[in-house]
Amino acid sequence: MDMDFNDVKRIVGDTAKTVAKKSGEAWEYGKIKYAIYDIQNDINKIFAQMGQDVYESHKNGDIEPDFSEKCEVIDEKKRMIEELQTDLAALKNNKKCSDCGKMAKKDDAYCPACGQSF
Ligand SMILES: [Zn+2]
Repeated sequence: MDMDFNDVKRIVGDTAKTVAKKSGEAWEYGKIKYAIYDIQNDINKIFAQMGQDVYESHKNGDIEPDFSEKCEVIDEKKRMIEELQTDLAALKNNKKCSDCGKMAKKDDAYCPACGQSF
């Protein structure tokens, strides 16, 4: 079968779109994973600093250091991680309807919003 140039252009275009969409999702996934790793690293640094503070205060016979500010920062960072993990779970379990753009569950056979079959 002969294909004219427009057919070839259309097929190449569709493939490029599919690849771009897939790598876009993978990139988003990796970005969130990295952000979680980064925040967890910050938390670990604060924990290490707290341990050092306790050691120093014992060594010098000082009163126990006040960690309330550091604990608040840790709480805030833990909340951020929870939010990011929710985003990750959403990326893993959902897919976007190609027709209406609404989110559907990964194993849905039809879009709950517009009825498009997947
Ligand atoms: Zn839909």
